[in-house]
Amino acid sequence: MPRKIVVIGAGGAGLTAASTAREHNPEAKIDVFTEDEYIAYSPCAVIYAIEGVIEDFDSIIMHTPEYYGKKRNISVHTKTKVASVDVDKKIVNVADGTSMPYDALVLATGGRMFVPPIEGVKLPGVYTIKHVAEGKAMKAALKKTDCVVIVGAGVIGLMMAVAVRNLGKKVTVLERYPNVIPRIIDEDMSAIVQKHCEGLGIKFVMGTPITAIKGKEKVESAVAGGKEYPCGMVIMATGVRANLELPNQMGLEIGQLGAVRASTTLQPYRNDHLVSDIYVAGDMIMCESAATPGPIMSQLGSTAVRQGRVAGINAAGGYATYPAALSPWVTYLGEIQAAGTGLSKGLAEYFGLSIVEGKAVGLTRARYYPGGKEITAKIIADKETHRILGAQLVGGEEVTGRINWMTGAILNNVTVEEFVTSYENAYCPPTSMVKDVVNQAAEVLMAKLNGSK
Ligand SMILES: Cc1cc2nc3c(=O)[nH]c(=O)nc-3n(C[C@H](O)[C@H](O)[C@H](O)COP(=O)(O)OP(=O)(O)OC[C@H]3O[C@@H](n4cnc5c(N)ncnc54)[C@H](O)[C@@H]3O)c2cc1C
Repeated sequence: MPRKIVVIGAGGAGLTAASTAREHNPEAKIDVFTEDEYIAYSPCAVIYAIEGVIEDFDSIIMHTPEYYGKKRNISVHTKTKVASVDVDKKIVNVADGTSMPYDALVLATGGRMFVPPIEGVKLPGVYTIKHVAEGKAMKAALKKTDCVVIVGAGVIGLMMAVAVRNLGKKVTVLERYPNVIPRIIDEDMSAIVQKHCEGLGIKFVMGTPITAIKGKEKVESAVAGGKEYPCGMVIMATGVRANLELPNQMGLEIGQLGAVRASTTLQPYRNDHLVSDIYVAGDMIMCESAATPGPIMSQLGSTAVRQGRVAGINAAGGYATYPAALSPWVTYLGEIQAAGTGLSKGLAEYFGLSIVEGKAVGLTRARYYPGGKEITAKIIADKETHRILGAQLVGGEEVTGRINWMTGAILNNVTVEEFVTSYENAYCPPTSMVKDVVNQAAEVLMAKLNGSK
């Protein structure tokens, strides 16, 4: 009998798990369930389709269910919600009343956009942003309004703010914390990002949580700090929470960050024991941080596909582990790019670590080479061990390669001294200064650690 593998969720984690399981087990019967109409798209791309940088929503859909059926022999059941899982009998119960037994199950039900339960949040004109259907509806509605309030100045809120501003709308961002991209980057770095966005014409109201949305039949204004901000649309970018509907029903253990606790084999726990034949991946789980012992929720597409791969191998009957996540990220905001990896100062404090920072401002090309843009690099290291724990970059171009470079260093437990000596950068005048800004920041940090600054 071929092995029966069921995957719940057709996002980055679920579809990667299904495809990887197929590679590792050509005989298996593989079924994927998703409540969504569309599959194989990146929520990251929805914003660009709204803005029109990507012409239509069809272009962001990488593959159809028919493709998975024909090319990979995987049955994808769209618009099919799984209502429950009987862990003891190993049966998936679909909301339409049908059921399917499994030998191995991958649970990859992602996250849900968190929306604070404030007055007026159900009014027409209030949007969240993740799915293609939401993107299409928002794009149509944006044609009928010229004034938008965005709630939340995290990466998604800022990307949305820039996109809507590029469409010529008046944009106000309301943020409860005092700085943009809070906790993920430090105040000094977020100040550069905010200033750039303000230069694009985006208005920020910081340290002021939204308290209500007003309107008779549809949105007319948002209220924060006792002030009313008139608008025709409110976009809630107030975070993503693990989708715990099925994990709770299945009795899986939920960790201190509000996500499913998983082993390195990506098995969940139930009654303090690993559950055999079930694997979890993506936005719904928490895992170990690769920067320091302790749990994190990565909630990135790049993490979801890596975890999906491990879950798929194990579901197919193989053995793989996902030790920890460092969560490197990058975003483009108008003419600047921001990126980070590992711990920010705020996250280091959360983990109770004592850290030292090094920062440098440089250029993305040799000083004499035309077109160079300013770039700021910041590196954080453990005060005791000098091990690099995190890095942040904000600049006019080329931050991705640099953040990947730092990610490699952190994953290899490199100290600042080792980085300065051995982590040489490739150089030619159009790509960097001979001593790259990252190396400059590392030298500043080394001097501080060794007491000479
Ligand atoms: C606007 C936006 C922009 C982003 N930009 C980036 C970026 O630039 N870079 C980056 O790395 N990450 C980005 N992310 C994060 C990234 O999209 C997520 O981390 C990733 O999609 C998580 O994948 P996942 O498979 O865990 O979950 P999801 O993609 O959320 O997939 C969950 C799946 O589970 C299904 N499902 C849930 N419950 C059930 C049920 N009961 N029955 C059947 N099916 C069910 C859903 O239909 C869906 O198919 C962004 C996210 C958003 C919202």
